[in-house]
Amino acid sequence: MASFYKPHRHPNWNYGGPNWKLSRSKIDLFLNCPRCFYIDNVLGSARVPGFPFNLNSAVDALFKKEFDIHRKAKTPHPLMTKYGIDAIPYDNKDIDLWRENFKGIIVEHEPTGLTVSGAVDDVWVNPEGELIVVDYKSTSKDKKIDALDEEWQIGYKRQMEIYQWLLRQKGYKVSDTGYFVYANADTSKEAFNNVLDFDVTLIPYTGNADWVEPTLMQIKKCLDDPRVPKAGKECDYCTYRETIAEVLKKHSEKRQKDKDIHTQKDTANTTSKEKTTLF
Ligand code: SF4
Repeated sequence: MASFYKPHRHPNWNYGGPNWKLSRSKIDLFLNCPRCFYIDNVLGSARVPGFPFNLNSAVDALFKKEFDIHRKAKTPHPLMTKYGIDAIPYDNKDIDLWRENFKGIIVEHEPTGLTVSGAVDDVWVNPEGELIVVDYKSTSKDKKIDALDEEWQIGYKRQMEIYQWLLRQKGYKVSDTGYFVYANADTSKEAFNNVLDFDVTLIPYTGNADWVEPTLMQIKKCLDDPRVPKAGKECDYCTYRETIAEVLKKHSEKRQKDKDIHTQKDTANTTSKEKTTLF
């Protein structure tokens, strides 16, 4: 992991550099803590990334394959039929690009000049030609997942709203209702036997992307300000960082003090020896 983390990113990838884009996750970072966002995007030092969730990625990849079969056949996936959703997976020349990490749906936002991007999991289309944003999620919980009512799930909702906003900016008609395809791994079985069973539920969410435009204006202001903003309230890492700097400083001051005392003692001993020799 240590060699994986690069604390100083090449300036080409920072704000103002040719490769910099405002991704969906960066917008979320700004909303959680403008300070961390600024240190990352302007000063070029991102937080240490977490370990990749390979099992979640595997579920996403398999969902993608499954929905792609129906995209090609222009038929609804059985899950859509089960939940009475009148739509099919959207077939468009750009769908693979929209789903690709580090590419995604890219929009040049004129009022700020920011390039905004987000990689969507899937897009469906209803008979009215409205696009439906879809996000795959996987987890393992004891209870059935049929709602997004946890406070921390606000990030999931914002994620969907940014995708809806991006597609609208591209000129598409987009439904306010998006869906989370939630795969919940069942751990109540007697044994693993190389099989993980999932209960898959479909959770509708009515998005409201009104917050996106004003947030982009705030982000632009933040990026162009030479002052580093204050930290958000929800994170203890800055307190941790400052405390560590403080205790290390104290420790080095104490070591220096101890060294000085030893040097003084040595000097005093040498002087008294010299005096003894003289007399
Ligand atoms: S409070 Fe947390 S999120 Fe904010 S700058 Fe400090 S480490 Fe980053």
